Amino acid sequence: MTAQIIDGKALAEELRQRFKARVEALTAKGQRPGLVVILVGADPASEVYVRNKVNGCLAIGMHSEKITYDAAVDQQIVLKKIAELNADPNIHGILVQLPLPKHFNEEAVLEAIAVDKDVDGFHAENVGALAQGNPRFIPCTPYGVMKMFEKGNVDLSGKEAVVIGRSNIVGKPMALLLINAGATVTVCNSRTKDLAGHTRRADILVAAVGKPRFVTADMVKPGAVVIDVGINRLPDGKLCGDVDFAGCLEVAGQITPVPGGVGPMTITMLLANTIEAAERKAGL
Ligand code: NAP
Repeated sequence: MTAQIIDGKALAEELRQRFKARVEALTAKGQRPGLVVILVGADPASEVYVRNKVNGCLAIGMHSEKITYDAAVDQQIVLKKIAELNADPNIHGILVQLPLPKHFNEEAVLEAIAVDKDVDGFHAENVGALAQGNPRFIPCTPYGVMKMFEKGNVDLSGKEAVVIGRSNIVGKPMALLLINAGATVTVCNSRTKDLAGHTRRADILVAAVGKPRFVTADMVKPGAVVIDVGINRLPDGKLCGDVDFAGCLEVAGQITPVPGGVGPMTITMLLANTIEAAERKAGL
């Protein structure tokens, strides 16, 4: 059996086209959606992510700007800027690119963002709302995965779901969304015993590990939906996921590729969250 591929690039494009009308309607009401991305330091990968986020906004008519600081900047200066942006009526979303330099208290910075502008959904209050099944903002990567399930007509209710990875950014919010959707969820981590024993039971398998081709075909239940969140750079410069795509393609029922899978959906859902924030402010 060859799996059906869930094309994240095509879905991202389809959604972004649809967002344009919402942006136009908001702009006409004087609420052009605006996103500010704060970047501290000059990590090359972060610079690329931030550029893509800003350009993604501009391409659909939103306002977006990047604010950069030297890696040695005092945390208080960044907190002061966040306070200014919290009060700025033209800004609907504020995002601080992670990771931050070592001298920063990441939690304090994330908590400084106003909950109704926290488009990454990382503020403790927004994490709590998600855990209670009443999210204000859904973290962008797992939100994108949920949209891919929708596109692939994947019914999650009553399914065995296994998430490999328990990070605050991907694994945990992914597990919460699957729980909220009625799946029976197992979350694995680096200490999990008999990982393959868990993954082979999974109707839905989400890999967010950060290790190239970690999930092999023998770990996948025939017909399973396999979502590859991983983005790994190989020595030859090419990108690859956490899933051995070629091998798993022959076992899975549906699968996402890397590149062109979850990656393009992440920024798309950041745009969605910023538009949703502006719509809430406009009373729509
Ligand atoms: P992370 O914070 O490093 O978390 C990785 C998780 O994998 C940890 O919970 C870790 O367990 C677990 N793990 C590591 N080795 C394992 C093993 N042998 N068996 C089982 N679990 C294992 O990474 P992340 O931020 O969640 O990101 C994961 C991957 O997704 C990375 O490749 C990242 O680049 C990618 N990513 C992609 C997007 C996108 O837009 N597509 C967005 C964010 C991240 P412990 O907790 O026990 O250490």
